[in-house]
Amino acid sequence: MLFTKFLLGMAFAAMLTTGAINAKTQKKEKVAEDVVVPEVTARRQTRNLGPQRMVSADLRWTDEQGIAHPLVGAKVNLHDPDVFSPNYYTDSTGHVEIIYDYYDYDQDLYLKVSAQNDTANIKVQTKQGVLYTYDFQVNIMIDDYIDYTFTTAVEGDFDRALNIYQAAYYYGMYAKQINYGTAMPMCSINWPGSTDEGCYYSYNSITISGKTAASGYPSSWASWDVIGHEYGHHVQRTKGITQNPGGTHYINTNNIDSQYSNGYTLETAKSRGHKLSWAEGWPTFWSTVAQSTFPADIRNISTVGDTRYTTYQGFWYELDTYGALTNGYARGSYGDADEIAIQSILYKLYSPTIDTYDKFAISAQTLFDIVCNDHSYTFTQFIQAMYNLGYDQNNIAKLLGQYRVIPTQINIENNYINFPATFSWSTYMGSSNLRFNSFDFVVLDSNLNQVFRVDNISCSVNTATYTPTESQWNQILALGTNYYVYVISKQTLSYVSGLYASERFEFAQPTEYLTGFDTVMTPSAWGFRQQYYFDGQSAVHTPDEHLTINSTRLRCGYIEQSYVVLSAKHNEAGHAYLSLEFNKPVYFYSFDIALWSDSEGINRNNAELVMQVKDEYGDWREEADFLNDYTLPTKDQGFLNYGVWDDDGIYGIRWLETAPATGTKNKGRIAFNNMLFHTALED
Ligand SMILES: [Zn+2]
Repeated sequence: MLFTKFLLGMAFAAMLTTGAINAKTQKKEKVAEDVVVPEVTARRQTRNLGPQRMVSADLRWTDEQGIAHPLVGAKVNLHDPDVFSPNYYTDSTGHVEIIYDYYDYDQDLYLKVSAQNDTANIKVQTKQGVLYTYDFQVNIMIDDYIDYTFTTAVEGDFDRALNIYQAAYYYGMYAKQINYGTAMPMCSINWPGSTDEGCYYSYNSITISGKTAASGYPSSWASWDVIGHEYGHHVQRTKGITQNPGGTHYINTNNIDSQYSNGYTLETAKSRGHKLSWAEGWPTFWSTVAQSTFPADIRNISTVGDTRYTTYQGFWYELDTYGALTNGYARGSYGDADEIAIQSILYKLYSPTIDTYDKFAISAQTLFDIVCNDHSYTFTQFIQAMYNLGYDQNNIAKLLGQYRVIPTQINIENNYINFPATFSWSTYMGSSNLRFNSFDFVVLDSNLNQVFRVDNISCSVNTATYTPTESQWNQILALGTNYYVYVISKQTLSYVSGLYASERFEFAQPTEYLTGFDTVMTPSAWGFRQQYYFDGQSAVHTPDEHLTINSTRLRCGYIEQSYVVLSAKHNEAGHAYLSLEFNKPVYFYSFDIALWSDSEGINRNNAELVMQVKDEYGDWREEADFLNDYTLPTKDQGFLNYGVWDDDGIYGIRWLETAPATGTKNKGRIAFNNMLFHTALED
């Protein structure tokens, strides 16, 4: 049969040198060509097929750059006004052959080409649901042959629809392959959509925008990256790996922030932002990897087969980068609610390239299986699935840090043998409105065995700190070798997200002693009574031989045998304070502070809690404004630890609270736990 086709092709090639392009013109010429008939007769005798004839075709579509490609997998039927043949499909070279019994059809016989494939479950239709098809008239008297290239210049929207069809066909076939041979459900692709709407996916249906492309960018119907992204949504829905809240999504921002500024509460914005970023990040990754499996002639089409996402909307960005390789906007990374961060991390996990931050080359199939088995619908869930499967959390951390999902540094301060050091790290998680607020702190020995672990350290400020207890510090010292620290960062508003382990950082043992003395004042050590006096009280404290403290206080007592507490909110008060003055400079001070409960009736709008320190000249200066600068935890949530080194030394410290003078109950209560004051030897 190939031989026959070739002969016919030769015959027509000679005949078509006049440059006929239109298919109908070609066919008329074929009918008029006497030479053909004997050949056909001869072949029919060879095939000995009686009344059977063959129509064959070689079909191509043309991309936006004017390059022709074989039309692959497209459905073709023979039909007359009444009878339709079974479905045939063009092969990988765009060829199809249909042998038919000409007694079954009348003289008006057509070869119908449809922008449809039933193996990949793809069809391209207008918004009204009309399938894009094209009819060639077939000469029933002969073995007819059609050799034709569709172009936008001649067939217009049919060729454009074939561009969409061919993209969707390859995405559909890839989806079937990675899904172990089971195709996705039929996906209807509607084009052109509205001229003022973008592309979107909705339950087994994709709409490709009718917008005019930005100058220098592919048309919407030729935006293979966008078509692949939308098809990726189809795969997600089918496999149950999304809880996409829908609506407009944004790139180059944190989606918690974008949802919050759209008017959702922070709780809802967090949930929507996380789900949206995963729902939009994964399909672009999937589509980018899918393209790498496409035939060479397809990968050579402009914007196809690279690792950039390019859209008719007039921008592109690179997935395979840690930096800011974009066109059309300036790119940043915004943590686990940033779709570009997510798709870039997924791409790095997949990419065969290994570098300083990317230690992974996981196959597309394995990554697909992880997501499908886990039914991940947030990035947190996906990373937990990776941990559970045993992927190295330290190597994952190297990658996450590059996209600002987690802190990339743990610092140590006050690293002395006789005084527990303080470790600190950023609570930034890519959002302007939400930060990590709970941490697990883990110390490992030089063999990476766990020495100790402290869970759920809460923090409401930009830098989280942990100071090991004396006994934990002694455990570290007893190692005698370098040791490692990592933290697990969590965000607990409404639900726990994050749970990302940082990279482990190596620390050396301290080599120096801190020379000086620490005076620790527990709440009971002050000797205050359990009473909020309405007039000022004063006392002198000499907890040890190193420091003398003069205290004055108003509405401040030692409450319930637990904490030193200020209470300004009372109808006969409105003010409360605790003021401490020292007989010598204090170079380091730290204290634990918290709200007594979550119903104290004070906030940054109706109250104030400032801390001042007294310098060497006797002047008081403001050091902190707790209601404005911090979200104070309640004592049950865990105290905020506040510690400061001051090289010049301070001579006093005081906390001044103002609150509405309303109510008969003692409210506006601020609780203090232990305080530590460090004085130097020389003084
Ligand atoms: Zn999308």
